[in-house]
Amino acid sequence: MADSAEVSMNPMTYLGLGSNLGDRAGNLTIATERLSQEITIKEISSIYETEPVGYKEQPLFLNAVVSAETELDPFELLHFIKRIESDMGRKPGFRNAPRLIDIDILFYEDMIIRTGELTVPHPGIADRAFVLVPLAEIAGEFVHPVSQRKVGDLLAEVDGIAGVRGVGRLSLRETIN
Ligand code: AMP
Repeated sequence: MADSAEVSMNPMTYLGLGSNLGDRAGNLTIATERLSQEITIKEISSIYETEPVGYKEQPLFLNAVVSAETELDPFELLHFIKRIESDMGRKPGFRNAPRLIDIDILFYEDMIIRTGELTVPHPGIADRAFVLVPLAEIAGEFVHPVSQRKVGDLLAEVDGIAGVRGVGRLSLRETIN
């Protein structure tokens, strides 16, 4: 039998990260390092430079997706990521406004949550190339629990892939476990 100490039973979550103000790559790095203080980061996608969606008159975004194991429940995880956003100086803004850092819960296991505070899976996944391109890099086989479609299949159908360009990787020390 496997040594139970070696087998992790913690839930897996996928988080989307974005920044289009200031030192964008630095903001993604700081956010990932802050996340790793409370959750166990397993994989980090490449960084992609992406066209803004909705409100176009703003700088290009950098986006990435991380996978992590966590002991936090989905609401605790939401409060943790919102605390990181506000600690990093994000100011409340209008929908699709420029932002120093945005962290979204894309998936939490195969849970489906629909409350005023939290919607999981994140409702924008299937329409957003800037989410699907990095997500497919680390979770192409993951099955969306609502549509029952694989992430890689959603990517094959999304518009806007041409506006998502790989620009490298985050340089992180001791963040991935
Ligand atoms: P945002 O502008 O992306 O930071 O999101 C604003 C609000 O969306 C947050 O304050 C959350 O309460 C809510 N929200 C709902 N579902 C999610 C989710 N899956 N991930 C992150 N925020 C969410």
